[in-house]
Amino acid sequence: KTDDEIEETIKRKMAHIKRKIAVMSGKGGVGKSTVTALLAVHLAKQGKLVGILDADFLGPSIPKLFGLERKKPLSSIDGIEPILSPKYAIRIMSMQFVTPEAAAVIWRGPMISRVLQDFLAHVSWGNLDYLIIDMPPGTGDVPITVMQEVPLDGVVMVATPHDLTANIVERAINMARTMDAEVLGIVENMSYYRCPDCGRIARFGNSAALLARKYGLKIIASIPLEEDLARYGDAGVIEEYKTDYFEGIEL
Ligand code: ADP
Repeated sequence: KTDDEIEETIKRKMAHIKRKIAVMSGKGGVGKSTVTALLAVHLAKQGKLVGILDADFLGPSIPKLFGLERKKPLSSIDGIEPILSPKYAIRIMSMQFVTPEAAAVIWRGPMISRVLQDFLAHVSWGNLDYLIIDMPPGTGDVPITVMQEVPLDGVVMVATPHDLTANIVERAINMARTMDAEVLGIVENMSYYRCPDCGRIARFGNSAALLARKYGLKIIASIPLEEDLARYGDAGVIEEYKTDYFEGIEL
C-alpha cells in the first residue's frame, strides 16, 4: 500500500471516533499510564464507548494495568480487534499484544512513523465516543510522530508537584500547542499523601498549580500518592479501584 492509501485508511478509521484525547507527560514515571487508565474508566462508567491506544511503545504499561498482558488480539475483516477490558469493556490496543518484543527494539524516527502508521491503519476500533491515547513520555520523535498521525481533539498533561518536572512539562505544553492540539488541562498526580492512620494530609509542592496559572490551564484533577492505587495497578485490576478523581469532569 502507498503512503497516501495508508493515511486515507487511518483518516477513515479515526472519523468514527468522536473525541481523541492524548495523555502526555514531560517525562516517564509520573503516572501517565495510570492517569490514562483512570480517565478511561471514568468515561466508561458514564456509559461512553471508550478505547485506549497504548502509544507508549518503549514502556507499554496499559496491558498490565488491566490484567491483559498475555492476550493476543484476533483479526477480522476490519483489521486487528482491540482487547476488551474485563469490567467496562474498554477497547484496548497496545503494540505489546502484537509484537511483545517491540519495547526491546531501538527505534529511530522514520521507523517509528512507519510502524505506527501501519499499526493505526490496522486497528479496528469501530465507533467510539472517546479514544484515550497513552503517549510516549517527553517531547522527542515518538510523541511528535503520534501527534502527526492522529488528529487530536485535546491533550491532558500529567505533572507532579515537584519543581524538577515543571520545565519539562512546559516543553510538552509548548509542543502540544505547536502541533495545534488544545491542552485541556493538567492532572496533578502524586500531589498529596493522606496518612492512613492519622488522616493528616501532606502536600508535596505547588509547581503544577504555578504551571497551570502561567499557561492559563485548569487543574482537572489532583490524585494523591496512594499505596492502593499502585497496588490495584500492579495487580492488573485498575478497573476495580473505587475513587473517581474525575467526577463531574467533561472532556
Ligand atoms: P508513566 O506512565 O508516567 O511512566 P505509570 O502510570 O506507569 O507512569 O506509573 C509509574 C509507577 O508509579 C507505577 O508503579 C504506578 O503504580 C505508580 N503510581 C502512579 N501514580 C501513583 C499514585 N498516585 N500513587 C501511587 N503510585 C502511583
